[in-house]
Amino acid sequence: MQVPLFRLQCGVNSYDWGKIGHESTAAKYAATTAVPNFSIEAEKPYAELWMGTHPSLPSKDLETQRTLLDLVQDNLALMSTEISHRYGGKLPFLFKVLSIRKALSIQAHPNKKLAEQLHARDPRNYPDDNHKPEMTIAITPFEGLCGFRPLAEITHFLQTVKPLRALVGDQAASEFEQTVKGSEEAEDESTVQKNKEALRKLFTSLMESSPEDIEAASKDLIAAAESSPASFAVSSSSPDKTPSNPEELAAITVRLNGQFPNDIGLFVFFFLNFVTLEPGEAMFLKADDIHAYISGDIIECMAASDNVVRAGFTPKFKDVNTLTSMLTYSYAPIEEQKLAPTDYPYVLLNARAYSSASSSVLYDPPIEEFSVVKTDLNRSGAKATFDGIPGPSIFICTGGEGKITVADKTEVVKEGYVFFVGATAECIVESTSDNSVFTTYKAFCELTGTEDLANGQ
Ligand SMILES: [Zn+2]
Repeated sequence: MQVPLFRLQCGVNSYDWGKIGHESTAAKYAATTAVPNFSIEAEKPYAELWMGTHPSLPSKDLETQRTLLDLVQDNLALMSTEISHRYGGKLPFLFKVLSIRKALSIQAHPNKKLAEQLHARDPRNYPDDNHKPEMTIAITPFEGLCGFRPLAEITHFLQTVKPLRALVGDQAASEFEQTVKGSEEAEDESTVQKNKEALRKLFTSLMESSPEDIEAASKDLIAAAESSPASFAVSSSSPDKTPSNPEELAAITVRLNGQFPNDIGLFVFFFLNFVTLEPGEAMFLKADDIHAYISGDIIECMAASDNVVRAGFTPKFKDVNTLTSMLTYSYAPIEEQKLAPTDYPYVLLNARAYSSASSSVLYDPPIEEFSVVKTDLNRSGAKATFDGIPGPSIFICTGGEGKITVADKTEVVKEGYVFFVGATAECIVESTSDNSVFTTYKAFCELTGTEDLANGQ
């Protein structure tokens, strides 16, 4: 029987927002995975490395050049028959590396039901009928926007950032302020619903602004950012919750305007949490959560889908009506959007790994399609043995050097190498470097029966 360990060859997309040439981690990794005839062009943007079976950019077995999709459909045991049947013979998740030079579109991903409707109505813009919850883990310092801010912060900006108030209109702003006043932090269901409805109205009126009004307000906004950045302060009642200072917010506004002049996104910025992630920090986006990525290199894992509803910072198709009506309008501080890693119990570290403070941690979002384990091996000879699990795994190395072993097959691992490991196979990764940390990310799916099956419904 064939050993279920395959080195994969993975392609990279060239979207406009990607980092340029050799600056792009996604491009470097694609070059490492040995795509035939691929060499990095110095001036070209490289955005996303894709690891999985999605037909838009399928991964291949390096040795035989068969697609991973072909391999797992030929041998259902590679994913487990249960997962093969449940996900129609495709990998349940899509694993990516993103290298972000400029902001990605302001977006949300539809839940399962909405995805089915959108796909039926407009298959060109919505190529899948699946939902797309996604998780981001920073591999370099990352900036992004994620979820709506606490209401008190939005109210504060309506009062201090004049061009924002001018754009949404004084009446809409006043109505919102009156509705949420005194109940910004209330938790009872009916008040929260009333606040979400007020937020929906306010945000919709912003998103329906005319291009002329947006352009005029943008000019005033940039003038304010350059002359009085202090007006970008988040409400003084919660200074220590502020993930950033006013000068930084003002500077980002100016930077975003350089990337997308006079874009509605400049104003959406005041409605959403600004988040920074340090390497190893993660956030999880449920279906229908609004977000935008601004800069950094990240590992991303999502349910296998390519559905995006966009409404700003993009030259692509925008669907403002769908976006404003699909959002949940949940509002919360950014700390509640972050996903803290936990201990991963199904890995055994050897003595050398323990003595060098090596680690394996689990990022486990409340969905069934995927989880990710990050393993840092700090010294040559440090070794992590992963139990076989009843589902497929994909490993990628983001630093250092080592090897990976399944049964009697061992392969060298370097930065950017990607491997598929079949269901039930025990797998060992080992560092062969004393000079750098050997880091791998393993995305996997196993059906434990305890997942939130209602997610995305
Ligand atoms: Zn997204």
